[in-house]
Amino acid sequence: LERQGVEQLEEICRREGLRLTHQRRVIQEALAGRDDHPTADQLYEEVQATLPDISRTTVYRVLETLVGIGVARSVGHPGPAVRYEVTTARHHHFFCRQCGSLSDIVVPQLDDLPMPAVKGLGFKIEDYSVHFTGTCNECKSK
Ligand SMILES: [Zn+2]
Ligand SMILES: [Zn+2]
Repeated sequence: LERQGVEQLEEICRREGLRLTHQRRVIQEALAGRDDHPTADQLYEEVQATLPDISRTTVYRVLETLVGIGVARSVGHPGPAVRYEVTTARHHHFFCRQCGSLSDIVVPQLDDLPMPAVKGLGFKIEDYSVHFTGTCNECKSK
């Protein structure tokens, strides 16, 4: 699955005339380095090693920016906190109801559903993702 890293961030900043701040770079790098769909708080904990003075609010704001320019996205799921990822290609998720882990899953049958025409609402549907819920392997074996 296609993932966005610091390279893509650099490219977009150059193209859009945005400043590639140290904070943006470090947060993109931290997010690109994991595949567990971390929350903003988890990323905040992680980047403190590199950016000791950063505030939680700044991490939230930077994440919004990264999502806005398309190098990250937030994942819809049944849990409470927004979670982030750098995988921007269409894919689906498995959410464990017990531990809250969120994993990427590839389901070829779901990858080319025809976009439904929703008459009368004026929506232009462009993408979709499906989330499955259940019990992950780790929780199952407990
Ligand atoms: Zn679990
Ligand atoms: Zn994902």
